[in-house]
Amino acid sequence: MTSPLANDASLTSLFSARAANIKQSAVRDVFEISMQPGLISLAGGNPYLQSLPLEKLAESAARIIAEQGLEALQYGGGQGTLELREQICQVMAAEGITDADPENVVITAGSQSAQDVAAKVFCDPGDVVLVEDPTYVGALNALEAYQVEVIPMAGDGEGLLPEALREQLAQLRTAGKKVKFLYTIPNFNNPSGVMLSEQRRQQIIDICKKEHILILEDNPYGLLKFDGAPLPPLRARDAENVLYLGSFSKIFAPGLRIGWALVPAELKQRFYLASEAVTLCPPTFNQMLVSAYIRDYDWLAQVRRYRELYAERCETMLEALEEHMPAGVTWTRPVGGFFVWLTLPDHVDSYPLLREGIDAGVVFVPGAAFSTKPKSSSLRLAFSAVSSENIREGVRRLAPILAKAVTKQPSETTAAG
Ligand code: PMP
Repeated sequence: MTSPLANDASLTSLFSARAANIKQSAVRDVFEISMQPGLISLAGGNPYLQSLPLEKLAESAARIIAEQGLEALQYGGGQGTLELREQICQVMAAEGITDADPENVVITAGSQSAQDVAAKVFCDPGDVVLVEDPTYVGALNALEAYQVEVIPMAGDGEGLLPEALREQLAQLRTAGKKVKFLYTIPNFNNPSGVMLSEQRRQQIIDICKKEHILILEDNPYGLLKFDGAPLPPLRARDAENVLYLGSFSKIFAPGLRIGWALVPAELKQRFYLASEAVTLCPPTFNQMLVSAYIRDYDWLAQVRRYRELYAERCETMLEALEEHMPAGVTWTRPVGGFFVWLTLPDHVDSYPLLREGIDAGVVFVPGAAFSTKPKSSSLRLAFSAVSSENIREGVRRLAPILAKAVTKQPSETTAAG
């Protein structure tokens, strides 16, 4: 038999067609750079773990190993432990979903892996998925790896525009395209920080239902609304048509990689089997530690502490932007989550500004990371894990770079980029 390598020396010729779509995200690039000493990173969407009860968690971890070690270090069920699935239903009740059945919860390796599973079980190459513009880079990566046609949808300060969604779906229907789902982050979108208004929520549900497409609702920041009154997720209004994704990454600890999907009953089995094919089972010890955290700690009090902290940091960032940013730069005013989204005039490409930022000691994520388009005049700033002092200093360092970019003539910017 001839070796598949006979006519081509490079092993990369063995990659699937799909593999060509798998790229390193700009967020990961920036993540590495952010580690350099002296730089202020407004790039990473990290939770501020310093406020967790670390010593007590160490005791819980030790107790789990000492008392239940053989279970904790063993394989577990593919859907996740029943105890944690029941606790996840309590967490979702705090978000406004009161009818969740633990039977329909599938615990995943972060909600990132649930996104991959969703793309895998629903999408054939060429199928269409609608997303917000901008949207979460990890979702774009997962969808593109399955050769999905990702179509960004227009929005404004109140989130996705229902009318635009209706029109886009009608056009796609006429063009004979198969639309599988709308991927949406209704609460404090990553990267824009925008929250979908109460009024638009039902409209979007109705449109998707009528067009027979699923909603993939990604809600890792839902409990982090600064004033403490989360808007009920779309799933709270529609149990049939919404596949809901949740995560402990933003309200507890991303390193444990525990997220979940609440799947409509008729879709649950296939979704769960696909998830099992990827991870066999979610990490047992980590699930037990999350269970101990929910059972033995006042986790809601910790969520309240996080809200206050993030509200304060967001306010500091907005004040610093107000003070330092030049005319021509606009930004969102989030009421929850981790991010502020800055937009410069159309002629500016924010990617080359990253190099200038690094030279000036500040890092951000260029907007193109969150878009299907190659260039973006926007950029994302994260305030979640940065002290107020560094937020002010970071914005102060960034301002002259943006001021220069705004005043450059369009042709100069193009040449530079
Ligand atoms: N969805 C969104 C909108 C996110 O911002 C993130 C993480 N930044 C994720 C999903 C992935 O979260 P997890 O750690 O649960 O995989």
